[in-house]
Amino acid sequence: MEHIVIIGNGISGVTAARHIRKNSDKEITIVSSETDEFFSRTALMYVYMGHLKFEHTQPYESWFWKKNRINLKKGYVSKVHSNSNEIEFTDGEKLSYDTLIIATGSKPNKFGWPGQDLNGVMGMYHKQDLEALEKYAPDNKTCKRAVVVGGGLIGIELVEMLHSRNIPVTFLVREQSFWNGVLPKAESEMINKEIIKNHIDLRLGVNLKEIKSDALGNVQSIVIAETGEEIECNVVGLTAGVSPNVDFLKDSELEIGRGVKVNRFLETNQPNIYAIGDCAEQHEAIGSRRSIEAVWYTGRMMGETVAQTICGNKIEYKPGHWFNSAKFIDIEYQTYGWVWAQTKENEARFYWEHKDGTKCIHLNYDKSTREFIGINNFGIRMRHDFFDRVLTEKRSVDYVLEHLADANFDPEFYKLYESEIVAKFNQENNTNIQLKKKSWARIFSRA
Ligand SMILES: Cc1cc2nc3c(=O)[nH]c(=O)nc-3n(C[C@H](O)[C@H](O)[C@H](O)COP(=O)(O)OP(=O)(O)OC[C@H]3O[C@@H](n4cnc5c(N)ncnc54)[C@H](O)[C@@H]3O)c2cc1C
Repeated sequence: MEHIVIIGNGISGVTAARHIRKNSDKEITIVSSETDEFFSRTALMYVYMGHLKFEHTQPYESWFWKKNRINLKKGYVSKVHSNSNEIEFTDGEKLSYDTLIIATGSKPNKFGWPGQDLNGVMGMYHKQDLEALEKYAPDNKTCKRAVVVGGGLIGIELVEMLHSRNIPVTFLVREQSFWNGVLPKAESEMINKEIIKNHIDLRLGVNLKEIKSDALGNVQSIVIAETGEEIECNVVGLTAGVSPNVDFLKDSELEIGRGVKVNRFLETNQPNIYAIGDCAEQHEAIGSRRSIEAVWYTGRMMGETVAQTICGNKIEYKPGHWFNSAKFIDIEYQTYGWVWAQTKENEARFYWEHKDGTKCIHLNYDKSTREFIGINNFGIRMRHDFFDRVLTEKRSVDYVLEHLADANFDPEFYKLYESEIVAKFNQENNTNIQLKKKSWARIFSRA
């Protein structure tokens, strides 16, 4: 029987396995060095914050794998031999495959900082990082201060985690304003304020020079490159981005760029080897998307797609319209379509912020055709299906504003903001857009 081997038991590898099982009787083995069974990486922070136990992050119970005839093997794959269709583990053991799926995810970036491997230095990616955090930062007596290096989505999560245990945190951000390579100025500044409001020692426009050690090899302090300032601390979180976890493939026949190079069918340059999830790099980016996308739902989509292809229904990976969501301490963030940090030549923007400084929307549209391009929402939740439809139907910004009530989750609570938003738009653009009443029929029939 055909043997499918999957390296990586994250969302992409496990989704591929589940869908291959749904569609076939093939033998399936999932290999991982991190944990015996799948867990939700995005929920790791809530374990440290005490909202969940680790087992709550595991949606499938142990019997699930046996019942579905999915073999689980713990071990680190050190080599892929595509000529003999085998993978090799660090202890020299080999496992044969007919089809191989590489789904090895990401690893936290380390830039060769002096002291980056000391006790108390960790990324925030793997379960082992969470265990290290529990060991070195269980409370503010053991960890008197932590320094988090790198201002992205994972960095701010780690800041929030430490803050939840009342551990003082210094947050070193290389950019002049938080995540301003992705967020427009206004949103980025809103998040700076949110960070400071939570008593985080935010340092903008600075880099880590080195991490200093005590006599026992534990973190003692860090030094800031620009100012030479030394900050005493017990824990350093390295969250300066992630990159595809593909170092073990360097000597293989596989084409590697930053990730494992794949075409639209997620095929690599080697027969019967596919790559999916965070570790896969598209030869050519799809639309305006990045060629590597380290997000949960794209990993799941790639897992579903590759399973179809392997089961005889060859299909292209089509991720649809871009969307993403996150939380910046207490402010929820969603984005649908594109609102780049810098306005492009063909674009016009509309920004509305609530006077409390914790809610805003930012609309992006084509200034000549008025076609809606994207929206950022902070502190206000909008419906994904609404914006997906609007983008597919290439609706105008005027349509979006007229139907803002349909886009919104909570009509009672946000009713006031909607009229305020539309009035502001009309005033700034000399238009006369009228807000339509919420239509459940429109929402559910997608009419
Ligand atoms: C703290 C945190 C919060 C996040 N929050 C969000 C969020 O809110 N929304 C969102 O969209 N995304 C979020 N992400 C990103 C998201 O979790 C990833 O995009 C997703 O988990 C990637 O899934 P994957 O299956 O490609 O890889 P992974 O989940 O990384 O799984 C790969 C597995 O393969 C194992 N492996 C790697 N190499 C080998 C080897 N050689 N041998 C054996 N095993 C190996 C790894 O140890 C790992 O277990 C977050 C990530 C982190 C770290």
